[in-house]
Amino acid sequence: MTKLTRRSFTTLAGAAMVPLFAPAVIGQAKPRVIVIGGGPGGGTVARYVNRDTKGAVHVTLVEPNKTFSTCFFSNLYVGGYRDLKSITHNYEKVAKEGVNVVHDTVSAIDRDKKLVHLGGSVRAPYDRLVVAPGIDLKWDSVPGYSEKASETMPHAWKAGPQTELLVNKLNALNDGATIVMVAPPNPYRCPPGPYERVSMFAHVLKTKGHTRSKIVVIDPKPTFSKQALFQEGWEKHYPGVIEWQDPKMHGGLKGIDASTGEVKTDLANYKADLANIIPAQMAGKIARDANLVDASGWCPIDPENMKSKVDPNIFVVGDACIPGDMPKSAFSANSQAKVAAMIIGGELGNARTFPARYSNTCWSLIETDDNVKVGGTYEPGEGKLKAVNTFISQKGEGEDLRKTNYKESQDWYASIVSDVFG
Ligand SMILES: Cc1cc2nc3c(=O)[nH]c(=O)nc-3n(C[C@H](O)[C@H](O)[C@H](O)COP(=O)(O)OP(=O)(O)OC[C@H]3O[C@@H](n4cnc5c(N)ncnc54)[C@H](O)[C@@H]3O)c2cc1C
Repeated sequence: MTKLTRRSFTTLAGAAMVPLFAPAVIGQAKPRVIVIGGGPGGGTVARYVNRDTKGAVHVTLVEPNKTFSTCFFSNLYVGGYRDLKSITHNYEKVAKEGVNVVHDTVSAIDRDKKLVHLGGSVRAPYDRLVVAPGIDLKWDSVPGYSEKASETMPHAWKAGPQTELLVNKLNALNDGATIVMVAPPNPYRCPPGPYERVSMFAHVLKTKGHTRSKIVVIDPKPTFSKQALFQEGWEKHYPGVIEWQDPKMHGGLKGIDASTGEVKTDLANYKADLANIIPAQMAGKIARDANLVDASGWCPIDPENMKSKVDPNIFVVGDACIPGDMPKSAFSANSQAKVAAMIIGGELGNARTFPARYSNTCWSLIETDDNVKVGGTYEPGEGKLKAVNTFISQKGEGEDLRKTNYKESQDWYASIVSDVFG
């Protein structure tokens, strides 16, 4: 496969000429796929299209960052089971395989001309575009919160420096500390994620011998994912440490003050030694700017193929899309990406296609070797990705089963990062 560096990409696109500008349908030039975002969604599509079309399709992956720290397993970093390095990956193998990896940000999509704009005046044409930018945070969904405030009260809902900040603050706490988490409203990435994180907070406090520290969770939701399992685990491993408050109990979040560490609800004012604020979420900016979102702030897709409902030349995979019954997870993003890659391979590379099938499992660690899971398989149905089979761990399960779940989660992590990063 021809490899384009950022420089050659720039030159060819800026020159507005052959051969990359010739539409694939009338010339010998290879069809072009541009993928926006090198997370589990975008990274998987780029690698699979490149591999499955055996170089017949020119694949460019645009991702601003040279390294990617996975949100998935970042809670294990919080709990001290992993270090940041072990969840940080790069795109060197992806580039070596023949994907043109461009470290830049797509600033605009011109859907009429089928072009993307990169930083400055660079324009690049596509035959198919994959939009996988993940999420943006709705800062103002929590009164008083902002990007600036997140430097004191981390969200850590995008992994990397934010997670590092959270971990450093957690490890610096003295016994008697108050941790306050503000959980996000639905829909958000990784439904069990906040509650696994709370478990990891409690695990660290216990490991450090704290007997007086407390964790308060202010939740805008009346229920949450795997609730009975988490609450059983909290009672078993961390009795009296975690207080989860539903809206009826806290009466509404009034606001936070990053300068004083206060989190105010109708019920009480907490002076948090560590505040973890996870705001509401929406599809990444580029998807919103390109009008791929609906009133919900997320991108509707055709469940048969992961194409955007508003533009058949564009696929939206991962957290940015509305996946029906599927939760927003790395497992889901990877599964959706494989469907999109298959369809693209069929349309541009004459590869074989099959009916779309999707799957997801979300594992959560409550305490060492006590891991619970939820998941299912999904098919197109009723205009969405419809759950056809679902499963969930049961309360009171044996230790061996929970330990096996943990092992499964480790194996899954190794397999998905190899899928995304080679
Ligand atoms: C604490 C936590 C724990 C989690 N645990 C799990 C778990 O155990 N299992 C699981 O399956 N999922 C888990 N998740 C969810 C998982 O991390 C996300 O669902 C997944 O990362 C979504 O993948 P994505 O590719 O859609 O988006 P992302 O991973 O966010 O990747 C998007 C990429 O797009 C890039 N990008 C954005 N805009 C542009 C642009 N304009 N131009 C170019 N590039 C752009 C970004 O830089 C980013 O690298 C967890 C999430 C959190 C926060």
